[in-house]
Amino acid sequence: MRSTSSTSRRLPTPEVGRSEAERFVADQLTGLYAEEEVVASPRFHGGQSAADRALDRFDVDGYAARRNEAYPQHRRGASGLSPYIRHGLLPLARVWAAVAGGPSRDVRKFRDELLWQEYARHWYARLGPATARPLRRRYPSTEPVPGPGPGGDGAPAPWDERLACIELTVGELEEDGWLVNQTRMWLASHWTVRNRHDWEAGEEYFFRHLLDGSRAANRLGWQWATGIGSNRPYGFSRWQVEKRAPGLCATCELAAACPIDDWPDEPELERVDADPLISADPDLGRTIGPLNVERTGEAEAVWLTAESLGADDPALAANPDLPAVFVFDRELLAGLRLSSKRLVFLVETLGELAIDREVEIHLGDPQSVLAGRPVAATFCPVPGWRRLAAVIAPVEVHPWRWLRLPVAGNIGSYSAWVKRIGQYVDRPN
Ligand SMILES: Cc1cc2nc3c(=O)[nH]c(=O)nc-3n(C[C@H](O)[C@H](O)[C@H](O)COP(=O)(O)OP(=O)(O)OC[C@H]3O[C@@H](n4cnc5c(N)ncnc54)[C@H](O)[C@@H]3O)c2cc1C
Repeated sequence: MRSTSSTSRRLPTPEVGRSEAERFVADQLTGLYAEEEVVASPRFHGGQSAADRALDRFDVDGYAARRNEAYPQHRRGASGLSPYIRHGLLPLARVWAAVAGGPSRDVRKFRDELLWQEYARHWYARLGPATARPLRRRYPSTEPVPGPGPGGDGAPAPWDERLACIELTVGELEEDGWLVNQTRMWLASHWTVRNRHDWEAGEEYFFRHLLDGSRAANRLGWQWATGIGSNRPYGFSRWQVEKRAPGLCATCELAAACPIDDWPDEPELERVDADPLISADPDLGRTIGPLNVERTGEAEAVWLTAESLGADDPALAANPDLPAVFVFDRELLAGLRLSSKRLVFLVETLGELAIDREVEIHLGDPQSVLAGRPVAATFCPVPGWRRLAAVIAPVEVHPWRWLRLPVAGNIGSYSAWVKRIGQYVDRPN
């Protein structure tokens, strides 16, 4: 076993399975998650086989009509593929191809959503940390939300908890680690547009619980819903609940005196100076990463990250006989305090990967584990990967699997972007 610096230690290889993953998280990642006890999502399993099954089961027929339905669950048309897409188990191009031949309206709508994901990735690849700031306008004043959840550590929620639509949403987010797009918009709007709480705290709260939590799509969703990065905030009221969740209001204690009967007041937002990176990319090559495999030496291991956990990850697939190395970044996890649902999902995935090849798992500082070790890796267009890669210096870097190559023009609006990249080419690059 390779020894690493005293700040890092090698962990045992997790056994395959849900309860083994839960035990692994409890024993090996103690104190690095949000809850006191380890919890797993009752709805999503990690692992390539779970991802493949979810894609096989998904039927795009009816997606366009039912994608925005929220309640009861059987009316929903959303695919539930996002945790697998987020972690590289289902590359966008594979999902895109999988729906070919379905009803054209449904296929178009579904592929449009995949392009939203691609847009979020382009946006984040170019703007990076700037996405943590309001990109177009800001709220003159919002109130901080204490602690991790809507109500902070044991504090009451910053709104009336008897509201059935919000309680359903908060409950599902915290229990399953996933929401349909519609209820993400409800909660983001209720949080900031109506109740004027900090959007940053809301984004962090989502990120903590979502199995698909990514800074790219989560920040884009919050910027869009709250109006700080879009033309108008999304207004949430009883109208959407009656339309998208028929029957839910009848279960609500507040049905006769609904506090969201009317639209929220339109906030008066202040313009901010637009980041120049929105209008043009001065370094497109950096945003895109390598277009071909770049090799400067002989790799002895493959470095995996949370973005590249698929069995067909390019660096993994090119090096089937090398061990794969994954490092749980202790400092990062201690700061993020993710829900243990996410950690269980990751460990389940790593456990399954270890059936066919050696998988080394470490806890500590990725730099101290990997610097000086000749590794192969797949480029990842996020600031954290770039920062680590500058020190780890992989000797073999595989291109990121873009669905569409980033372009240098204005990235401030999805509709302008999508026209530029070519929307419905049937065979993505
Ligand atoms: C406030 C807010 C926060 C969000 N946070 C995240 C996040 O952290 N991670 C994340 O992947 N998505 C996020 N989204 C986007 C979207 O809500 C989810 O991708 C979607 O609900 C996932 O469910 P699904 O796989 O069933 O989606 P489907 O409707 O089946 O869509 C298929 C795929 O398309 C992509 N997609 C769909 N809608 C969007 C969208 N609006 N933006 C980007 N990609 C999209 C996803 O990869 C999704 O898996 C957020 C949206 C909002 C409004």
